[in-house]
Amino acid sequence: MQVDRLTGQQIKRLQANKLAMLIERLRDNPFYTERLKGVSTDGDMHQTLRAIEPVDKEQILRDQMDNPPYGNRLNVPKERVAMAHTTAGTSGLGQEVHALTWRDVEAAGYLSSFAFRWAGLRYSEPAAFNVGFSNSSGGNAMLRGIQAIGQTPFLIGQSGFADRLKILAGYDPVGLYGTPSAINGLLRTAEEIGFDIKKELASLRFILVSAEPFPIEWAERMEEAWGVRLLEDYGATQSASSICASVCEHGAVVNGKRGNMHLFEWSFLFEILDPETGNPVKEGEPGELYITNLDKEASPLLRFRTRDRVKYTGRKCACGRELMSIESGSITRYDDLMKIKGQNVWPADMEKALFSLPEIREFLGEVAIGPKGRDELYLQVALAEGEAESVENKVRSMFKSQFNISPQLRFVHVTELPQWQTPERKSRRFIDKRQEGLAR
Ligand SMILES: [Zn+2]
Repeated sequence: MQVDRLTGQQIKRLQANKLAMLIERLRDNPFYTERLKGVSTDGDMHQTLRAIEPVDKEQILRDQMDNPPYGNRLNVPKERVAMAHTTAGTSGLGQEVHALTWRDVEAAGYLSSFAFRWAGLRYSEPAAFNVGFSNSSGGNAMLRGIQAIGQTPFLIGQSGFADRLKILAGYDPVGLYGTPSAINGLLRTAEEIGFDIKKELASLRFILVSAEPFPIEWAERMEEAWGVRLLEDYGATQSASSICASVCEHGAVVNGKRGNMHLFEWSFLFEILDPETGNPVKEGEPGELYITNLDKEASPLLRFRTRDRVKYTGRKCACGRELMSIESGSITRYDDLMKIKGQNVWPADMEKALFSLPEIREFLGEVAIGPKGRDELYLQVALAEGEAESVENKVRSMFKSQFNISPQLRFVHVTELPQWQTPERKSRRFIDKRQEGLAR
């Protein structure tokens, strides 16, 4: 029996056993000792879980600051750390660092491979991915996921879109991974340079996307324009640096409706909780996803609050798997973290940076898909004093060094910008218009 074909009952038994072992492993860990005091593993698994205080990003960052670099939650000797992945920064507190042992690295590859297997990748077939390499977990999860089932990964994330198309055409890939914006950008570039996608990339059978929500119409249009099936996966550095959910063979959109992403419950324990009440949501309802790493050695997370808003879709799917599922294409954030040009940035940090310049009176930022099919950050700036040219230079160098983003600036009169005086409405000086761009 394959792990993804376990019945609901078998999954629950497996999870309960793994959770009990995990809790015993973590009882003496200084990060968890207090949290686990008095927590019994004898009763119902969900009751056990509820007795444990969740872990959030701020607690992880504080633990790291007090006990650098991996924090007290590192549950193996430092010598066993084989890799470390970092996450998006948080205002003033820096980036989370998540350590992995070699076993964790291999496990992340094996887990991530399920997304590619379900997408239909077969032995010895090549697949390409649009992820640049860095200390983030994304590139590694894709690379090792493809390798774990004996396929050939092609790394195209470092090139420009036109070059990526040329590389793709050169070796007949059957699969392609990218964010919706990257897939969109490739298509627009192809149209611009007269690259016939269906002819040049006739071998392509599927595109796997993640990290951004997308409209149903967009998914259907991509399937048509690329002549492929579109699938979606989900993962986070906090899900053991691995993909931890994916749609099955049925795809991201099925007969005009959003498909199911199946959660990899054999290696994680997921909770989807109402952020107001803390109770599990019912089928069809949205809630916050909490993740427990059941198998991770180095720094396992117990009840990590992802701040990701997902819609629970139950445990039934035409594929027959009984895994807990979430709706495809509609994951959003409860907080404001934005991903712009591949960089994770907090609007509050950009706001702080801009208002640190006394010349700037007000501004509005819009993230949209630019004419070249790539993310662009457009800033409309109203000046209080000073000259546009010198302010533009300051802003550009500040954004380059702090956020690694080159914004497009336009100077306007302050009356052209929204007014934020009403106290009951939280000011939103950064607006994400990329979904509108995808919908077109
Ligand atoms: Zn399914």
